Amino acid sequence: MKTYAYGFPRLGKNREFKRLVEGYWSGKLTEGELLKGIEELNKKREEAYARVGGHPSSEMTLYDHMVDQAVLFGLYRAESLPDYFELCRGKNALQMKKWFNTNYHYLVPDFSGKELSLSNLPYPKWKKGEENAYLIGPFTFVKLSKEVKEEEFKERVLEVARLTVQFAKEMEFKSLHIDEPALALELSDKEWEVLKEVYRELSKAEIPINLFTYYAGVDRLSEVFELPVSGVGVDLIHDGGGNLKQLKEIESDKTLFAGVVDGRNVWRNDLFKTARVLKELSGRFKTVITNAAPLFHLPVSLSGATLPQELLKKVAFAQEKLEELSLLAELLQGKEERAKEWVEGLESSFGEIKRVRERVASLKEEDFVRRPAYPEREKIQKEVLNLPLFPTTTIGSFPQTEEVRRVRLFYKKGKLSQEDYETFIRGEIAKAIEIQKELGLDVLVHGEFERSDMVEFFAEKMKGIATTGNGWVISYGTRCYRPPIIYGDVERDGQMTVKEIAFAQSLTEKPVKGMLTGPTTIIAWSFVREDIPIREVAYQIALALKDEIADYEKEGIKIVQIDEPAIREKAPLKKREWDEYFDWAVKAFRLCHSCVKPETQIHTHMCYSEFGEIMEYILQMDFDVISIEATRSKGDIIEAFEKVNFDRQIGLGVWDIHTPYVPSVEEMAEIVERALRVIPKEKFWVNPDCGLKTRRWEEVIPALRNLVRLARKLRKEEQ
Ligand code: GLN
Ligand code: ZN
Repeated sequence: MKTYAYGFPRLGKNREFKRLVEGYWSGKLTEGELLKGIEELNKKREEAYARVGGHPSSEMTLYDHMVDQAVLFGLYRAESLPDYFELCRGKNALQMKKWFNTNYHYLVPDFSGKELSLSNLPYPKWKKGEENAYLIGPFTFVKLSKEVKEEEFKERVLEVARLTVQFAKEMEFKSLHIDEPALALELSDKEWEVLKEVYRELSKAEIPINLFTYYAGVDRLSEVFELPVSGVGVDLIHDGGGNLKQLKEIESDKTLFAGVVDGRNVWRNDLFKTARVLKELSGRFKTVITNAAPLFHLPVSLSGATLPQELLKKVAFAQEKLEELSLLAELLQGKEERAKEWVEGLESSFGEIKRVRERVASLKEEDFVRRPAYPEREKIQKEVLNLPLFPTTTIGSFPQTEEVRRVRLFYKKGKLSQEDYETFIRGEIAKAIEIQKELGLDVLVHGEFERSDMVEFFAEKMKGIATTGNGWVISYGTRCYRPPIIYGDVERDGQMTVKEIAFAQSLTEKPVKGMLTGPTTIIAWSFVREDIPIREVAYQIALALKDEIADYEKEGIKIVQIDEPAIREKAPLKKREWDEYFDWAVKAFRLCHSCVKPETQIHTHMCYSEFGEIMEYILQMDFDVISIEATRSKGDIIEAFEKVNFDRQIGLGVWDIHTPYVPSVEEMAEIVERALRVIPKEKFWVNPDCGLKTRRWEEVIPALRNLVRLARKLRKEEQ
């Protein structure tokens, strides 16, 4: 059986991609040096791919495939590299959005009123005459773009298809690898019709096309097999069994690219079980073994990863997934030896904590319910906290200066004693508290200087979660993060954040928020074990956070914020599966705070997603206050709050923290004014959109000064 792979990370083992592109941005590298470096990086990818039979040929991008194709189809002009990067990260950069249900962000092409035509990218991506030229399919490209009205959808997709044909001809491509992950969404009858027309159009390229779907099952897989393409790629891992079931009913002479190796999670493949599935499929289809989703959601390779020995033998990163593909091919030829070695000990589990299991097993419905109900605790909290109208606060982090990052790294490398490190952090906290006092903010934060990443920080403090050392994955552009691996039962290994929060609180009479990352966000930004239901993993994390909150209360902390910025992104692609997902996500959140005293105020924070459609679920989380990012779609969010009859307090971000300038009082007032038409003034908080760790103090101080001024002005107007 043949093997094929796609989506291998462009990052490079040592994050060469990041260094090259950022080196160019900072002027350290010339354009020539950048392109040469990228070509070398590409060669290394080719070498990795060498262990499989085939792969797409033009998968490199300098930032993101969607923006590349937006330029290719003439939605934007980019005649030079500076033009191109201006689209990616300049003042008028394209909007950024989560790519399907992943933590990768793409740039959203805007179609408004534009005419399409083929244009050139300012760097070489596709090569004349190549095989398996990589493209995002017309359907997905348009579906993920904005300003395409429903009635023009079909015409727009057809236009893109025509240009794709023209491009393929001009470039004399021999065959195409086309990604259409949007086919895993819930599509309307009309959209399925459009798809057929589009592929009829695309077939005019008169070359073989292999179409790949992934991230979930495809509702009408048989219709995809009827499209005029040569092969269809399906995800047989994250499809809930739906794809395999449909395949059993499908008769087709097309090639089946059977996605049996996980592209999104790190666990090693149970090769023998997979081989049985493949055998069955190969009796009915021309079958090629492939990965189930692009491999760029995984770190490049295990070499150099700092994982516990037992774990090392259970996981595979991108490079090792390629190895799994070749092992499967071997196995199907009857060669079992290497495969046997690979799966040895796979079933054995480790990291079980009986205490934790029992705690989760004994949870009852009432453990998820906070008493008294909101209206009553609102009164109590008002009295205890005694905050002014329009209270001001921030989302948690303050600037992570060069110095903060350097000292943290020193400590991690063991070049600084714990004592010296803690003294340094306390110093930073004290400075931050001083600044907030001086600014006159009402609810203070300690600044999160000790946290490099809001998930990794907690992962390091919890049993059952491993951090990878160098397991970097791109989240957007050149920005990377290291998803931890949740492998065993999760429990707090002593207090995680209490010391810092309590110290901050000791410096001021004003309330300081205890700051936690919520269970769903920890799960969404980690690789999660699959040997127990995800609901149980979420409850285990929630119990750890619950214990932390109990300790906060003992230290006199009156306000606790549990961040859940990833709650929307983790939702399944198909809305009909939302109830099931939100049931555990919401309950895990409630479990964190169900036991707190009535006077303890629970906040949450969310950002950079479309919240309108999940508002009902958000309400069920039963927090007291929510701060929410609202730069991109203020109107929508306000409307959504109106619709659900929201009785909680809300801080709608008044400062888009991604803008490079300091917003004026008037600019911020405008946002408040609109919001106050819908949200009662007694419930309104004034805060920035998100954490301030990527900003500089030089911007933060004047911006917060304006923010406090605004709140004071609003209060005066109420008198
Ligand atoms: N408390 C976090 C911070 O301020 C929240 C970050 C986020 O929403 N992604 O950095
Ligand atoms: Zn945020």
